Amino acid sequence: MFDIGVNLTSSQFVRDRDEVVARARAAGVHGMLLTGTNRHESEEAQRLAERFEGCWSTAGVHPHDSSSWSPEVADAIYALVNKPEVVAVGECGLDFNRNFSTPAEQEIAFSAQLAMAAELGMPVFLHCRDAHERFLALLEPWLDHLPGAVLHCFTGTREEAQQCLDRA
Ligand SMILES: [Zn+2]
Repeated sequence: MFDIGVNLTSSQFVRDRDEVVARARAAGVHGMLLTGTNRHESEEAQRLAERFEGCWSTAGVHPHDSSSWSPEVADAIYALVNKPEVVAVGECGLDFNRNFSTPAEQEIAFSAQLAMAAELGMPVFLHCRDAHERFLALLEPWLDHLPGAVLHCFTGTREEAQQCLDRA
């Protein structure tokens, strides 16, 4: 079994992270993808992936954290995705539900990360909430250059899900 979205960097696991990983493995989870949601979390996820066997990580900036996107953050994410433990760019995407970052900030960070993934030929770990149309509009031009994608936090309709699947 492979868990593709493990928030192992969460402070909830500060005390018993090793035990959590050991219990997951004992329960049959032999692979885990640790999700990075901003620069710090992505660095932490990569360090954990390096430390735990059977763990890989993503590096990226979540829509909620998009206001933190800057040339320095872009450089840091770029450095991370070139490390062997880091196998996807993300989480990235759009979340117009709560707009912790403005829609404009989200679109800039999302597009930059799609460009990075396309340049490196890496899959993307996507988050989309209440932003279906803009999400597809920004994603569409890059699809031919992305080897794969996971879409989560999906809140759309059956038709919108099909529109996403049609682009797989
Ligand atoms: Zn998410």
